[in-house]
This record gives sequence, C-alpha cells and structure tokens, in this order.
Amino acid sequence: MTKNVVIFGAPGAGKGTQSAMIAEKYGLKHLSTGELLRAEVEKKSEIGKQIDSYISHGNLVPDEVIINMLSSVLKQNSQTAGFIFDGFPRTTAQAAALKTMLKIHGTEVAVMLNLKVGEDELIKRLLYRGISSGRSDDNYETIQHRIQVYHNDTAPVKDFYVKEGIAVDIDGTGSLNDIFKRICAAMDALA
Ligand code: ADP
Repeated sequence: MTKNVVIFGAPGAGKGTQSAMIAEKYGLKHLSTGELLRAEVEKKSEIGKQIDSYISHGNLVPDEVIINMLSSVLKQNSQTAGFIFDGFPRTTAQAAALKTMLKIHGTEVAVMLNLKVGEDELIKRLLYRGISSGRSDDNYETIQHRIQVYHNDTAPVKDFYVKEGIAVDIDGTGSLNDIFKRICAAMDALA
C-alpha cells in the first residue's frame, strides 16, 4: 500500500533525523526540501543564488519555487511506493498544492506526524548543530527568526491536517530511539 507521510515540526524538532530512520524502515523515499534547496545553492546557479539569500536570512523560499520543484521531483519518482515529506509543506498554500499534486498521481497523504519540542530545546539543538553543520542559518539571530517564521507561516499547516483527520502529535524529546518508537507506533496503527 502506498503511504505518504508528512513529518512536521519547528526547525530543530528532528524531522531530518527521524525521516531517514522512517524511510529505511518503511521503504519510503525521503524528500527534504531543505536538502534539495541546499543542493541547488551548491550549484551556484542563478536560482541557487536567490534561494541562498532566502535561506541565509531565515526566510521561506517563495511557494511557487518550492511547489514547482516538488512537482518535478514527484514526476521523476512516480514509481515510488511512498514518500516522506520533510520540511514541506511549510505554508497552507503548499499543503493545498501537495494535495492536488498527489491526487494527480492517484495518491494522498496518509499521516502527518507532528514532532513536538519546546522552544528552549529547539534553540539548544540548532546552536549545537551549527557548530558542525556549516549551515548559514544555524546562528542565534537567524534561528530566532526561523522560529518566528514557523509560528507565523508554518504552524497553521497543522490545522490543515487536523481538519483532514490525519494529524498525530509525537513527543519529540528523549533519545532518538524513544522518539522513533513513538513514530513507529503511529505508523503501524495506520490501516
Ligand atoms: P529546518 O527544519 O532546520 O529549518 P530545513 O533544511 O528544512 O531546516 O530548511 C532550511 C531552510 O530552507 C528554511 O529556513 C527555508 O529557508 C528553506 N525551506 C525549506 N523547505 C522549505 C519550504 N517547504 N518552503 C519554503 N522554504 C523552505
């Protein structure tokens, strides 16, 4: 059965780490929009330079850019059993576009996993990651801004999935394995 998963949560909630574990166990294709965007930045293309300026300021890349990128990735991977969307959707417009795009491919989102982590812990994790990540956006000022953007633009996406009846809250604190066990319990409860 095709199972598409959206992993949701604030910056630093652990979406990337848990997505990799979920992708392996459930045979899903991991799609991280942050990674796709950073790969474009690395190419130093014209669009890459524009993307870089959004990311390094902690702002969202425009919906149109992200939606077009996702649309072509979905087309390229039409034979995949299921996806785990990490870092997407980040606005309600993106959530609506994802629903439409998946419908075209005859599928839908099965579950939205909402990783919950308190703000102090998020900041601590992101600052720690910044020591080794080399990411332009893992510094204190940009982290504060990203969390603000999350509250303003991204948090409403949760209601989109609550209305669809597929949002599941996951306690995102504790060891990686503890968190993964909670996620597996939610995944295994799916029909
Ligand atoms: P984190 O979850 O730690 O913020 P990501 O790698 O998911 O890290 O995202 C890093 C940055 O990439 C975001 O702050 C934003 O600038 C950009 N980005 C990633 N995904 C999206 C998206 N779906 N829409 C708009 N911007 C995005």
